[in-house]
Amino acid sequence: MLDRNFKQYAKLSPFELKDQLIERASSDAQRLMLNAGRGNPNFLATLPRWAFLSLGDFAMREAERSYSYLDSGFGGLPEHDGIVQRFDAYATHHRQADGVRFLRLAISYVKDQLGLDQDAFLFEMVSAFLGSTYPTPPRMLCHTEQIVKAYLTQEMFGSLPPNGEFSVFATEGGTAAMTYIFQSLRANGLIKPGDKIAIATPIFSPYLEIPVLDDYQLEVVDIRMDRLDDWQLPQSEIDKLLDPAIKIFCLVNPSNPPSSKLSDGTLDQLASLVAKRRDLFIVTDDVYGTFADDFVSVFAKCPYNTLCVYSFSKFFGATGWRLGAIALHQDNVFDAALEALPEIQKLLLDKRYASLTTAPRKMQFIDRLVADSRAVALNHTAGLSVPQQLQMALFALNGLMDREHRYKDAAKQLIRKRYQTLYRHMGVAALRDSKDVNYYSLIDLQEIGGTLYGPEFKTWFIKSDLGISFLFRLADETGVVLLPGNGFEVVDTSARVSLANLTEIEYAAIGKFTRQVLDECHQDFKKAIVLQ
Ligand SMILES: *Cc1c(COP(=O)(O)O)cnc(C)c1O
Repeated sequence: MLDRNFKQYAKLSPFELKDQLIERASSDAQRLMLNAGRGNPNFLATLPRWAFLSLGDFAMREAERSYSYLDSGFGGLPEHDGIVQRFDAYATHHRQADGVRFLRLAISYVKDQLGLDQDAFLFEMVSAFLGSTYPTPPRMLCHTEQIVKAYLTQEMFGSLPPNGEFSVFATEGGTAAMTYIFQSLRANGLIKPGDKIAIATPIFSPYLEIPVLDDYQLEVVDIRMDRLDDWQLPQSEIDKLLDPAIKIFCLVNPSNPPSSKLSDGTLDQLASLVAKRRDLFIVTDDVYGTFADDFVSVFAKCPYNTLCVYSFSKFFGATGWRLGAIALHQDNVFDAALEALPEIQKLLLDKRYASLTTAPRKMQFIDRLVADSRAVALNHTAGLSVPQQLQMALFALNGLMDREHRYKDAAKQLIRKRYQTLYRHMGVAALRDSKDVNYYSLIDLQEIGGTLYGPEFKTWFIKSDLGISFLFRLADETGVVLLPGNGFEVVDTSARVSLANLTEIEYAAIGKFTRQVLDECHQDFKKAIVLQ
C-alpha cells in the first residue's frame, strides 16, 4: 500500500489535493467523512447579524416614506434629517429585539467613543442596506472606515500607541486584498520580474503560488520559522532580509498552519531590521490576529513599511460574506517608492491614471489599489458592495462594543478545547504556549512517530517520504481528510488540521484515527526491518 505512486500529487496546491482526498474519504457511503482540511469555521457571530436584520427592517420603512401612495412596491431613497429620531421611535416599538438593542448601543458608541455624527452614521448604514447608490467614496464608506479603523486599532496594536493615521480599503475578503496588492505593485513598477520576494514559511499556500505566476515571475526566498523555537523567526533568517535585492516580505501572523503569533522579541527584531531596510515592503496578513492573546501586528510595530491585510471571514464565521480590508499608514514606504521611481516610469504612470486626476503623481498607493482593482477606467464604480460594508461595520462594532470579550473568549475557548481533545485522543501531550492560537494544528507525524516508536522509526518514516501517502491512507481507511504540511512549506512530514470546522467528538475521532494509521505505519516499519 505504501509504495503507491503519490509523487504525482506533490505539485498540487494543498487545497486542490484536498479534493482528491475528499473523493477517497467519501467513497464509503456507510462511513462519515471527517473533513478537517478547510479553515472555514463552523461557528459565527449572531448579534451583528441580528443587527443587520433589524437595520434592514428599519431601512425598508425609511424607503417607503417616499412614493408609498403609489402602492406598487415603489420606494425612495432615505432621508438624512431626523433619521435617528425616527429610529428611536422605531426602537421603542421593537426594543425586545437583540438587533435593535445592538443598534441603539451602536448609535451611542459611535458618538461617544468615535466622535461620529449619529444621523450621518445611521444614514450611511440605512443607505448601505438599501444599496441604491454606488459605493462612495469607492475605497470605503466614510463612517464605516472610521469604525473599521477603530476596530483594527483595538485588535492589531495591543498596548502599542497608534503611530500616525492610517487608511482602509474594504475588499472582497482577504482573497481580493492579496490579489489587488500584487496587481498594483506590479502595475506601478514597484515589483518587477526577477525581483526577490521573501516569504515567512510555513505559510498559507497562495503566498507561495502567486509570486511565481507568469504575471509576476518573482524569485522566492524562504524565511524559515523554526519549529524548535516556537515558530519564531530566528535572527539568522531575519538577516536574510538585509539583502537589498529582496523587495518585499510577506508573512501571515499568527501563522497558518503553525497557528502561532510572533513574539515581542521577534517583533523587536523586525523593527531593528526595517531601521536598516527602510525601503523594504512588508505585507502582513493578520486574519488570525483576533484569536490570539495580546496580539500586536507588524503593522503596529513597523507602521512605515507595512501593509496590513485583515479578513472578517474567520473570526466572525463569515467566509461567504467576503469581507476583508487593506490598511496602510499615511506615511509609508509604498508612496515613498512611487516618488522615487525614475522619471520615465513616472511618465507612464501619469498616463495610466490621467483619466482619474489632473495630478496623478499625488495619487497615493492605497488609492491606486482601488483604481487598479477595476482596470483604472472603472474607478468610479469600484469598491465593495455597500450592504457588505454595512455588515462589516456591524462586525467591527461588535468587536468594539464587546468590552467583556464574551464572543472573543467563546471563540478562543472553543478552538483550544478542540485542540486538547485532538491530541488527547492521539495519545500524545498537547503542548500549549501563550503564543499559540490553535486555529490550526500541524500534526508533526515524524516527531510524534519518533516519540511513540523511537528514533529508528522516525528516520525510516522521513526516508520513506510517507507524507502524502499517509494522508491518502487516512482518507481511504478512516474517512479523515487533512492537508499536507509540505504544501505550506513545512519541513517536517506533517498534516494540517483545521480546528475551526468540526465538533469536539469529531476531533476525538480524528485523533484516534490518526493514531491508528500511525500505528499501522509502525507495523509496516517492523516488517520492513525484518525483510532487511
Ligand atoms: C482564510 C485566509 C484568507 C482568506 O480570507 P478571505 O477573507 O476569506 O478571502 C487570507 N489569508 C489567510 C492567511 C487565510 O487563512
